[in-house]
Amino acid sequence: MSVSEHQGRMSQEGKRAGAAPVKKEMSAFRDYRAEARPSVKELYRLNHENQTLAFVEEKKRQYLGLDRRRAGMWDVLEELDRLVDDSDPDTESSQIAHALQSAEAARRDDQPPWFILTALIHDAGKILALWGEPQWAVVGDTFPVGCAYSDRIVFPELFANNPDMTNPRYQTRCGIYEEGRGLSQVHMSWGHDEYLYHVLKDHLPLEAQYMIRYHSFYAAHREGAYEHLMNEQDRQMMEWVRRFNPYDLYSKADAPPDVAKLRPYYQDLITKYFPAELRW
Ligand code: FE
Ligand code: FE
Repeated sequence: MSVSEHQGRMSQEGKRAGAAPVKKEMSAFRDYRAEARPSVKELYRLNHENQTLAFVEEKKRQYLGLDRRRAGMWDVLEELDRLVDDSDPDTESSQIAHALQSAEAARRDDQPPWFILTALIHDAGKILALWGEPQWAVVGDTFPVGCAYSDRIVFPELFANNPDMTNPRYQTRCGIYEEGRGLSQVHMSWGHDEYLYHVLKDHLPLEAQYMIRYHSFYAAHREGAYEHLMNEQDRQMMEWVRRFNPYDLYSKADAPPDVAKLRPYYQDLITKYFPAELRW
């Protein structure tokens, strides 16, 4: 299925003005039952059918030259305000609200500045959706391609029609990879995590790079799958991915942030780590 067929699937409803924040029980997050939010399962059907090794390699060729545009981080966050993530059963608020809620939660817990900044920008790679990528190639949980899809990935049955299922080379436990050689050798399904990692990897500490690159890799950081592909560094750094997760997940029920009031603090933080213009 070509990317262009899915252009326009992206939600651009923007934020729901005046929606009251609702405090949720922890167990009510990541509720993927189809009736909870029908578009979520449809997104994962497209994602699991189309995320093949060849697709990921094509997207890397297309985007990782980082020659599409130059823009400052705050400008990108403001642009993302037009996007609502179809894969997320927990929020209908805008991306800048999610960015600031995550960062503010980290700030309240006295996390170090680089951690707060990482919480702020962790989803900036969703800019891909505003450039016409279908949501299934931008958002949602990520997983390795080129080796067997774990049954600990959300909706594992939806991989049945993925063309890589018919290639025996890609369906062994390690597939095209070497056991224990590390996640840096592994092609992850294409989306906002992988893309943003490449945009920012020279500007943030290793812990932050992992938090960005693997924050949607729930099969690993929550379910413990794919240990056999990791090396010692991955195992240590996954701890930071886990530490970051509550700020991504449980801050979504917080009250909507006052963007204008918070802006100077965060613009200052951005300036400390990133150049005025980043390559996207
Ligand atoms: Fe994300
Ligand atoms: Fe997020």
